[in-house]
Amino acid sequence: MVKQVQLGKSDVRVFPIALGTNAVGGHNLYPHLDEEQGKDVVRQAIDHGITLLDTAYIYGPERSEELVGQVVKEYPRQQVQIATKGSHVIKDSGDIVQNNDPEYLKQQFENSLKRLQVDYIDLYYIHFPDDKTPKDKAVAALKELKDEGKIKAIGVSNFSLDQLKEANKDGYVDVIQLEYNLLHRENEEIMAYAAENYITFVPYFPLASGILAGKYDENQTFDDHRATRRDFQPKVFKDNVRRVNELTEIAETHDTTIANIVLSFYLMRPALDVVIPGAKRVEQVVENIDAVNVELTQDEIDKIDHLFPIEN
Ligand code: NAP
Repeated sequence: MVKQVQLGKSDVRVFPIALGTNAVGGHNLYPHLDEEQGKDVVRQAIDHGITLLDTAYIYGPERSEELVGQVVKEYPRQQVQIATKGSHVIKDSGDIVQNNDPEYLKQQFENSLKRLQVDYIDLYYIHFPDDKTPKDKAVAALKELKDEGKIKAIGVSNFSLDQLKEANKDGYVDVIQLEYNLLHRENEEIMAYAAENYITFVPYFPLASGILAGKYDENQTFDDHRATRRDFQPKVFKDNVRRVNELTEIAETHDTTIANIVLSFYLMRPALDVVIPGAKRVEQVVENIDAVNVELTQDEIDKIDHLFPIEN
């Protein structure tokens, strides 16, 4: 039987390997994206058993939702779950700020429905916290949408532990999405809170935007959003590549990729039941699905823990 996991306390059940789609129409993040290739990545993901697609208003902006929606229309709606996010405001000056005001979130949600061409969204996230709206009030807006049947599960993203606790005052939060990967394990503290409160923890940048897929040599350079990211700065990057290469032996033992060793390690963490690796090519999606079949031994887990300690 195909494995399915529940999102928080909601009725939404998904295949544990999902697809991150910020490289599907995310032209503001990656300069050379081919939209047809992006749509094909989504199609292949669904055809190979992935059910949850992770997008957001700001990827593109707008374009990722539009392209994901076009592909979703090719399938029975129930076969696929859509997660999207809102909170960004793009001002006329081009500046971007966050707004968690309940009315703004509801308007953002309605705009997402239109771009996705659907009449409900399975998982709707507040993408980033703002600095003025009480978090339980922001979540209450999503609870209203849930009561109306317009969303099935409530998520928050990029919230600190205190913000998550405030957001979850009434116990309505189903999913927290945060940066988490072997290079940055700080959010394990939040994972513990999530586990105690029946909240699913979804890690973003699970492959550290490609580093943890084990395919770069230390001289690789980048011309997209990665060029300015901390993990890609030359000295750190070299050390990251060296440590990732140490996972080759474990991957060979399991006859799989380094990416799948990393993803399977995550799926053993408390509350972390779903991963959303991104992909730019169809082969990557198909390969990553196999992570669900990898079972690491305790020795292998210890080795990974040793190579990528939590305080990193
Ligand atoms: P990621 O999942 O860490 O890395 C994805 C990249 O790794 C791919 O684009 C590809 O890059 C490479 N890759 C993936 N599978 C591979 C394989 N099998 N073999 C070799 N390379 C492989 O990074 P991400 O896509 O930026 O993040 C995942 C998702 O998280 C996003 O799509 C988005 O949905 C979500 N996200 C959310 C937030 C938030 O604020 N909530 C922030 C960021 C991202 P190359 O082919 O270019 O090397």
